[in-house]
Amino acid sequence: MAGARLIDCIGNTPLIRLNRVSEQSGCEILGKAEFMNPGGSVKDRAALGMVLAARESGALSDGGVIVEGTAGNTGIGLAMVGSALGHRTVIVMPDNQSAEKIDTLRAHGADVRLIPAVPYKNPEHFVHTSRRLAESLNESEPNGAFWANQFENLSNREFHERTTGREIWEQTGGDVDGFVCAVGTGGTLAGVGRALKAAKPDVMIGLADPGGSALHSYFASGTLEIDGSSISEGIGNSRITANLDGAPVDESWRIPDDEAVPLVYDLIRDEGLVLGGSSGINVVGAMRMAATLGPGHTIVTMLCDSGLRYRARLFNADYLASKNLALPDWWDG
Ligand code: PMP
Repeated sequence: MAGARLIDCIGNTPLIRLNRVSEQSGCEILGKAEFMNPGGSVKDRAALGMVLAARESGALSDGGVIVEGTAGNTGIGLAMVGSALGHRTVIVMPDNQSAEKIDTLRAHGADVRLIPAVPYKNPEHFVHTSRRLAESLNESEPNGAFWANQFENLSNREFHERTTGREIWEQTGGDVDGFVCAVGTGGTLAGVGRALKAAKPDVMIGLADPGGSALHSYFASGTLEIDGSSISEGIGNSRITANLDGAPVDESWRIPDDEAVPLVYDLIRDEGLVLGGSSGINVVGAMRMAATLGPGHTIVTMLCDSGLRYRARLFNADYLASKNLALPDWWDG
């Protein structure tokens, strides 16, 4: 076979040196370019890991429907992987997510069901709604339906352990002192953390937590308490998911939007990288870790998706002003 399969183009992303923050901190700060995955985000990996495991276990039959509740990127990954492997995808999504992600899902042919955003404990939360929908489609669909359940399905973090973690180890030649990122499901942080700790027990694993999430409070003091808010999407959580449970986290930092958003713009000007808000949170997290470890260390973080997925918010002066944030003077978007 001359050409690659689309699913084989997921992963093996470059590790890009972030020059300005490396120079400022005296550390090598490297970003894993997950926006270069074919579906445009880090979640292509979780999608592929969950679909391959479900096909292997028989939870997803040939021609079966994939169902998921997602803030967007996982749905895009699932729709892409699903189409490539002969599955239709139904996505249940809270209605407060960016229009660009909804458009992208629809462009992939996903059946998108928008529902009001409510707290997790409400039975109408998108995770519970998607589970009920999968149960009913499993009865009515000729080839059944599979609920991906990215928060609790351990194929998510296992795929990161096998791919993202191993890639980082190989790309740095084992010369890595720390890894830091934000958590949505926890698949990335737990998977990469486990892989790197297995290879080098004294590597530092850090959480970069946005406002509106309870995870910093959990890792800092043992209690889940939500604090503040953030315009970032796809990250933060109010509970310990199965994927995050047992993640080897050494340090945690609360990263405010008024540091992460200016950093997103710095990355455009200084590096030529147009990235989403979670990447800004992650790179500020890497700088916190650099300050903790001191100069001379190598720290890896994730560049999760493209800023073009958030054009109307992160790059919109009125939207930012409504959140007491501002566009930088030099930016003329
Ligand atoms: N960044 C973005 C943009 C995301 O969509 C997500 C996942 N929702 C994450 C980061 C976090 O990844 P994980 O689910 O592996 O914790």
